[in-house]
Order: sequence, then structure tokens, then C-alpha cells
Amino acid sequence: MAEWDVAVVGGGPGGLAAAHAAASGGARTIVLERAEHPRYKTCGGGLIGTSLSIAGPRIAVPARDTVDAITFTDRGGRAFTRRTRHRPLLTMVRRDDFDFAWYGAAVAAGAHVRQNAQVRTVGQDADAATVTLADGEVITARTVIGADGSAAVTSRHVGVTFEQQDLGLEVELAATPGDRAAYRGRVLLDWGPVPGSYGWVFPKDDELTVGVIMAKGKGAETKQYLSDFLAQLGLADRKVVRDSGHLTRCRSVGAPLRRGRVLVVGDAAGLLEPWTREGISYALRSGTWAGEVAARARTPEELAEYDRVIERRLAPEMAAGRRMLNVFCRHPRLMHAAMRTPVGWRAFQSFCRGELSMAGVLQRKPIRLAVGLAGGRDRLP
Ligand SMILES: Cc1cc2nc3c(=O)[nH]c(=O)nc-3n(C[C@H](O)[C@H](O)[C@H](O)COP(=O)(O)OP(=O)(O)OC[C@H]3O[C@@H](n4cnc5c(N)ncnc54)[C@H](O)[C@@H]3O)c2cc1C
Repeated sequence: MAEWDVAVVGGGPGGLAAAHAAASGGARTIVLERAEHPRYKTCGGGLIGTSLSIAGPRIAVPARDTVDAITFTDRGGRAFTRRTRHRPLLTMVRRDDFDFAWYGAAVAAGAHVRQNAQVRTVGQDADAATVTLADGEVITARTVIGADGSAAVTSRHVGVTFEQQDLGLEVELAATPGDRAAYRGRVLLDWGPVPGSYGWVFPKDDELTVGVIMAKGKGAETKQYLSDFLAQLGLADRKVVRDSGHLTRCRSVGAPLRRGRVLVVGDAAGLLEPWTREGISYALRSGTWAGEVAARARTPEELAEYDRVIERRLAPEMAAGRRMLNVFCRHPRLMHAAMRTPVGWRAFQSFCRGELSMAGVLQRKPIRLAVGLAGGRDRLP
């Protein structure tokens, strides 16, 4: 008999959503988190509507701001701002607040969350999976859900392979009264100097999160982009509250999501929107589905339902995101121009609000045609 029905490795949005779902489904659930909540995580903290629709019914979302305007710039120039009068486009959270709210929800649902518990290895045999902690303690569970982020121990056990890796660099700046007034309710997105790169300013009331993302392996260019971006924005002299970097990884098409009794979710599975690198909605969705399946399944064969859900629901979205990234890499100016058009702006708004998935955006006839003409087919599986 395994000690636990479900052991979750990692207490980010993926792991805590999984624990919430598993415990709500009646499973004896433990979460092993190496840090202690509330803890910082390098992340823009921008929630699209898809994230909100999962979080809203389960936690009080700790919003620092809601966004109804986006300023677009192309390598610091050609600025224009688009506004919406309808529902907000994005909700801004700090990840320490957001993840802490999920921690509370998972505990309230009956999960046991053990903090300062670093997992070193994962293993399994025919009857159970095992998780070994840094202090040597071994925990057994019927199912292990790996949610330990983009440098995951569990990814290696499952054998996930990745086809896209990016480095995100971010600074949290103390916002002056002028910054707060300038950015309240508004984000800024900048199409960057290297194909596929972009930068952002996300308002968090008393702080501004300024970040850039670029393909891994270009550390010097990524740093230079962040420093040029801050200078262009006139923010280079602000007090830096925190300065950090983190990798994002997108899984290869068809990469495994599970090995026997161990399944992976969120960043550990490389589930991430390839163009925007939006990952919170992927972590919340995959975590919730994994937790629901794990609460019901008794055997590895029954756990295979999780693989099918991801292939059906998230794989098409990632394929669409790869096409968008491909067009963006080849024609960054086209993306910039598209946001000026009613069709482009409407589609982007619908994506932000969670009304359309990326695959849904590409099904819009004018966008499908434009993406086809711009050569967005090449990287289709
Ligand atoms: C610079 C940057 C900006 C981003 N901005 C956004 C954004 O604005 N909106 C958005 O939707 N997405 C954004 N993302 C992506 C988003 O941050 C991730 O997709 C999301 O955090 C994935 O959640 P997760 O639960 O899978 O992993 P994580 O949030 O990384 O959580 C993993 C958890 O596991 C724990 N852990 C790790 N290893 C172990 C171990 N061995 N044992 C125990 N615990 C362990 C960690 O401490 C952590 O708490 C951004 C990413 C980057 C890098």
C-alpha cells in the first residue's frame, strides 16, 4: 500500500492546481515544495482570461491591476496604444501572492503541503511510485505528478524532450508616482531586436515588472536588450527591487507526458504557449486535469487518460503558437502592423480575454490566410 494516493512535486500553479483537484476528488494528496510560500518566482504575472476562468472559482485572485490598454512598440519606436472599452484584457498578479492563494486553496481542499522539501529523485515499480527527498526520506504514492518547473527532476524521469528554450530576464522596479499614473491599467509590449524576442512592462501598483525574453544561448544579447529597453523607457534609474532570470521550455511534438505512474504538468512538461511564452494557463489546466485523472485512476493504463486530454486540448494550441512564432520571427513588423488593424486587434483581445485559444485565432479566415501567406506553415508537425 502506498502511503499517499497522489504526491505532487512542486508547489507552483501547476502543482497546487493538481493538488487542489486531486484532494477535491477524494485522493490522499501531499505536495512537496522546496521553497516556502509566499516565495518569489520570476514571472510577468500576467493572467489571460483562460487562467482567470480556472483561478476565479477556486481562489480570491490577488489582482494588483487590471489592464484595458496595450502600447505596442517595435524595437523601442513606432509606438501606438490600443484600448478596449469592454471587459479587461489581462489581470496582473505578483506570483508570491498568487501562488500563496493557491497554496491556501489546496490546503483547504484537504491536501497536505510540505514546504522546504526538495525532491532529489523519482522512481517507480509495478505497485507504487517513490519520491526521495534531499534528506533521504522516501515517500510512496500511487501516482506522482511532476510540477517542478523548467529544470524539473520529474521531466528527466519521464523523458520529456524540448524543441524551444528561451531565457527570460526580469527586473521588479519601485514605481514612482509618475510611473504609477503612466502605467496604471496599461501594459507595454515591445517586439525585440532578435527574431522571436520581445519585451514587456507590466504594472503591479507600487512596482513595474520589466522583462525581455529571447532564445536561449544569447545571454549577452538578452542582457543588452533589457538594458536598452529600460533606457528607452526612461526607467534605467529606478530602484531595482529584484533582478532575476529563468528558462522557459516548450516540449517537442509528441514528447512523453507520463511514464507509468509519473506524469508531468505545466513547465515540467514543457506546456507553454510558444509565441507569447504564456504558461500560467497551461500549468493551471494541465495541473487540474492531472489531479482529476490521478484521483480516479488506479493503474498506469487509467492514467493514460491524462495524455489523451493534453494531446486533444493543448497540443493544437501549441501547434498554433508555433506557427505564430514562426511568422513573428520572419516578419516582426507584420505583427506590429497587424495590431493596428481591426481584425488583428480583435483577435489579440479575444486571446487575452480567453475567448479564443491560439488555435481559435488561427481559424479566423483573414488570419489563417495572412499566416499562410507569411510562411507560418513550416513548423507544423
Ligand atoms: C521571465 C518570465 C516571465 C513570464 N511571464 C508570464 C506571464 O506574464 N504570464 C504567464 O502566464 N506566464 C508567464 N511565464 C511563464 C510562467 O512563469 C510559467 O509557465 C509558470 O510558472 C509554470 O508554472 P509551474 O507550476 O509549471 O512551474 P513553476 O511556477 O516554476 O513552479 C515550480 C515549483 O516547483 C518547485 N520545485 C522545483 N524543483 C523542485 C524540487 N526538486 N523539489 C520540490 N520542489 C521543487 C519550485 O520551487 C516552484 O515552486 C513567464 C516565464 C518567465 C521565465
